[in-house]
Amino acid sequence: MTTLAFALAATIKHDGHGGIADLLSTPEESVAWLREQKPPLTHVLGPVLPTDLGRFLHPIRAEILPNLDASRAWCELVRMRRAVRALFARAVAPGAPSKVDADRLMELDDALRMVNDAAGRLGTTRLEWVDEPRLRWAYQTEDPVELLAGAVGRSAIEFLSGPDRERLRACPAARCVKYFLQDDPRQTWCSPACGNRERVNRHYRKRTAG
Ligand SMILES: [Zn+2]
Repeated sequence: MTTLAFALAATIKHDGHGGIADLLSTPEESVAWLREQKPPLTHVLGPVLPTDLGRFLHPIRAEILPNLDASRAWCELVRMRRAVRALFARAVAPGAPSKVDADRLMELDDALRMVNDAAGRLGTTRLEWVDEPRLRWAYQTEDPVELLAGAVGRSAIEFLSGPDRERLRACPAARCVKYFLQDDPRQTWCSPACGNRERVNRHYRKRTAG
């Protein structure tokens, strides 16, 4: 399953026309993106989301309970994305970060602090027992935007300290800015589309050079 941190890093992508598309360009777009992240959010925060965040993400209640401050959520997501991408850039083997932000990466210490501080606001997990044992977060804040940032932070920590980190790659295709998980040692590109585009480009370069 896609983790929240991974999904957030992927909100900057190639737009198919040689440019960069940012899925989080405005508060409204950020809210729309966020509503699609219920499974990865639930994965981090537990089967029952914190009330405000849960209501916000509920498709029917979302309109009547606009509890989440969209502008703040947007700012926080964009901030956390910078930190996550800075950490991903350092985690990829063999040290080839994605091109879009390679020249303006956040300092490692700053990125670590942001991720750790955000995750710290979630507090710790506790074991609860209603019918069966399950983990619940003992939240350190009621603020849904802070919980959101905390979920991203926790997700980044779990991802970067877990076994999937070794499969993290930055797609080397021209203008592609994606990080992806390599499923097979021979997989070079994030997607067949990138592979095809690169093959066409190479063929074209060879022809024009020859
Ligand atoms: Zn790609």
